[in-house]
Amino acid sequence: MPLETLLPAASLAANMADIKPPLRPQEAIVEASRCLYCFDAPCIMACPTGIDIPAFIRKIAFGNPVGAAKTILTANILGASCARVCPTAVLCEGACVLEDRDEQPIQIGRLQRHATDYIEQRGLKVLSAPTTRTGRKIAVIGAGPAGLGCAAELARLGHHVTIFEKQARPGGLNTYGIAYYKMKPEVSLAEVELVKSLGVDIRCGVSIGRDLTVAQLERDFAAIFVGVGLGTATRLRIPGEELPEVVDALDYISRIRTEPLDQIPVGHRVAVIGAGNTAIDAATQAHRLGAETVAVIYRRSEGDMSAYEFEYELAKNDGAQFIFRALPIEVIGTNGHVSGVKLVRTRQVGDRVEPLPGTEWVEPCDLILKAVGQEKQAQFLREFFPSLQLDRRGAITHDARTGQTSVPHLFTGGDCANGGREVVNAVGEGKKAALGIHAFLTNETATPPVQPSRLGAKTGPTGSGIMKPIRAHELEESFTQATKPF
Ligand code: SF4
Repeated sequence: MPLETLLPAASLAANMADIKPPLRPQEAIVEASRCLYCFDAPCIMACPTGIDIPAFIRKIAFGNPVGAAKTILTANILGASCARVCPTAVLCEGACVLEDRDEQPIQIGRLQRHATDYIEQRGLKVLSAPTTRTGRKIAVIGAGPAGLGCAAELARLGHHVTIFEKQARPGGLNTYGIAYYKMKPEVSLAEVELVKSLGVDIRCGVSIGRDLTVAQLERDFAAIFVGVGLGTATRLRIPGEELPEVVDALDYISRIRTEPLDQIPVGHRVAVIGAGNTAIDAATQAHRLGAETVAVIYRRSEGDMSAYEFEYELAKNDGAQFIFRALPIEVIGTNGHVSGVKLVRTRQVGDRVEPLPGTEWVEPCDLILKAVGQEKQAQFLREFFPSLQLDRRGAITHDARTGQTSVPHLFTGGDCANGGREVVNAVGEGKKAALGIHAFLTNETATPPVQPSRLGAKTGPTGSGIMKPIRAHELEESFTQATKPF
């Protein structure tokens, strides 16, 4: 049967609402006041972009969300999206010292969202473009998190930056590939506007090879940052894969983010192949679009899943069933449409997974979402950047401190260099590469344009340098101050 939409718009809007709603102002102040403002805070060490977390939390606690947002965005230009999509449980919040005291870690992600939402909702500007320019021009290929992170840092260092993006809209994974209930596309597009406000020129719909050659870029720009992410979804390579209801999970997620929710068809019985975070995003969203059953099929065991624990729990809470040690060997079609997937049990032999003959069965389904990984950009890179060295996985070999590749004027970061990690890793690597490019072009040691304030310095709201926890009767007063126009 062809797929159809299953739920009315109102139900879909409720199902896709924010999974972590924003903190109310009073809640944010109370939460921020629990922070111990640790010196050499482990939460900072755990953040790939090095946000001065205790400093921004302290500003929230003292009723200064604008200052908090400035601290966040100075270190991480995509602080609003990272507040929503970072796996905080394994990064900053996982490192919070309160865990060692058997207390709930500080909700750093939600506090970060509180501060960045505060300025976005009021149209406040906390970062500005430099008044003097170096005259040096840098090209950035790819307007995803790595490219945006690199471009913003370069612009703030005074360089002219042009980003070339092949997609119709900028933002990369943040715009096209995040589960809708974690972050709406508007958040990503607002961040792109922030990057543009620093003077960065973004040209979308421009493909390297089709619209622009690398030789042209090398002629017109002093350095190039390659932030092209990962390539197409990995194929299952099994009979029946060409049937119309066998869909790449990332393409399906992209549709959910770019089309009205009540026009996205979904199956009654959905099978998701793979058990990484994309698989979980696809499974959970299929359920929220109205699928009656969702089965996540994985060829290895539960302990081998690459999805984070909290993502796994989310999918189970949404009713997804997990079928472990099962390998798809054929998509079954009836009248040209998917009606099931034939599976075989597997066993582990060393690192390998082997099918167990005679254990085949058919799992009924009418939509199959493939989430078994993405190809590296090796083919694109070999065609257009033949001098670049790639590692065994097809990722670009580079200096992790500067992003510099085997070709001195080419720099890189993000998924095409790290093989596929988190949004916040991509932003951090883009930033490092920006400082590497700056050093390469100017022979100056690269330092961030604005150093984050440090605890203990006389920079606190009281000006005394001595922190006092906020008292209950002060909360309302702090909130009143926080909501005054700036
Ligand atoms: Fe310390 Fe946790 Fe506060 Fe970080 S968030 S400064 S680790 S109490």
